[in-house]
Amino acid sequence: MALLSEVKKNYGTLKNFVNGEWIEPETSKTIDVENPSTGEPIAKMPMSTKEDTKKVIKAANDAWWPWRKIPPVTRARYMFQVKNIWEDHYEEIARIMVQECGKTMDEARGETRRCIENIEVAAGMTSLQMGYNLEDGAASNIDEDATISPLGTFAVLAPFNFPGMIPCWFWPYAVASGNTYIIKPSRQVPLTWNYMIDIIKDVFPPGVLNLVNGSHEVADTLMEEPGIKGISFVGSTPIAKYVYKKCAENGKRVQAQGGAKNSLIVMEDAVMNRTVANMLASFFGCTGQRCLAGANLVPVGQKAYDGVVNKFIEGSKNIKVGYGLDETVNMGPVISAKSKKNILTYIEGALDQGAKMILDGRDIKVPGYENGFYVGPTILGDVAPDMTIAKEEVFGPVVTIVRQETLDDAIEMINSSNFGNAASIYTQNGKWARQFKYELQVGNIGINIGIVAAMAYFPFGGYKDSFFGDLHGQGQDAIKFFTDRKVVITRWL
Ligand code: NAD
Repeated sequence: MALLSEVKKNYGTLKNFVNGEWIEPETSKTIDVENPSTGEPIAKMPMSTKEDTKKVIKAANDAWWPWRKIPPVTRARYMFQVKNIWEDHYEEIARIMVQECGKTMDEARGETRRCIENIEVAAGMTSLQMGYNLEDGAASNIDEDATISPLGTFAVLAPFNFPGMIPCWFWPYAVASGNTYIIKPSRQVPLTWNYMIDIIKDVFPPGVLNLVNGSHEVADTLMEEPGIKGISFVGSTPIAKYVYKKCAENGKRVQAQGGAKNSLIVMEDAVMNRTVANMLASFFGCTGQRCLAGANLVPVGQKAYDGVVNKFIEGSKNIKVGYGLDETVNMGPVISAKSKKNILTYIEGALDQGAKMILDGRDIKVPGYENGFYVGPTILGDVAPDMTIAKEEVFGPVVTIVRQETLDDAIEMINSSNFGNAASIYTQNGKWARQFKYELQVGNIGINIGIVAAMAYFPFGGYKDSFFGDLHGQGQDAIKFFTDRKVVITRWL
């Protein structure tokens, strides 16, 4: 099978997008961006300094007031331009995601669609940002109104696993509602956003949308500088906690999404063929590197176990692993050699604690890509709910089969987790499904659906250690995060 072409073989040394142009940061320190499918370096990313970051903040701050004064209907038209340009470059965006992140083409196309859907929702800002008023609201002849006003400059600190989409949970709502914005992509996957911003670089007035490449120093500067009103973070739980605390110390708004450990419950009456197909996508889609991915497969009772487990194992053996630019591939590599090592350590730890290897993906070889960071579908049986592998986030294509005897036990297991991002039940019984959604302390719940990915007009976030803050990304929640209510009381008579 011929591969689709890479947009570029090598992307050279990246720059920062500041005040409408690409500028070289003052730092000379760079790190390699690797293609996880081949293990080869494909770009150098500058590790911007505090001073570089302050330059970006200043540009965004200077651009704020003129942008804020542009009427919402005009701001919305800028979003339509973004949508049209991204539609025109849809395939290139997806191919860069595959190249730097190791996705399959279908996964990358799906992610690109999600980016555009958030632009489409934010383009409705004229309706979404309306305030409210009450005649004689304070007393006779004294009216009261609340205006929804933007606040200044915001920034996102993004993770590696959805290089295009995650900034789009935030920036379209911030910018369309009259704020200016700074994107800091993950240092592992900066290329998608460097491309997505390059093709729209002439759309906005200079300074409205900016990008800074770097790592901790950039993140810390964004969290410390007074020119930033708030931070949206998505990443692992320890860093989410750190970001939440640091932003609070510096008086900033913050929404910090963390990690996950998601259980998929199978009841004895589930429609098994459909359940297995859906679960395979949940566990192995994006190589298990999704905050919504299934991690624990939980059959409830012997009949459910017998109905689902063998079929699931057989389905897992048919997954073709490789470089996603080959469109026959079903699953790509994990993001890095470090991540692969971490996943293998979890698997070995589980075996030491008594888990049984059912399907071993540790030694997979992909011909032609011997240096890629591949882990094949891996299934561990005899996993007890208190084993480390059943409780901690592995973030790879590793499934643990954790049996439970009753639905109450399964719910108890999910609710005792530190995480609360997602969980699903497969059943035809409405009473069980209702109990599941009613009792769960989890932010995203699937009923016969294994990936509960909220559409752009719904909020996206989790509970417990999966989310710190109150307002989520996307839709109305995002607009509230990026604006405040200004109350005006008026008397003319
Ligand atoms: P990560 O926490 O390593 O990095 C996220 C971002 O934080 C990056 O931009 C990184 O540069 C920055 N960062 C990392 N360490 C930092 C530090 N010490 N100081 C300042 N900034 C720092 O996460 P990752 O490995 O890129 O992404 C995977 C994680 O993201 C998983 O845990 C996954 O569950 C989570 N995730 C959660 C959601 C969600 O919606 N809850 C969505 C996607 C990914």
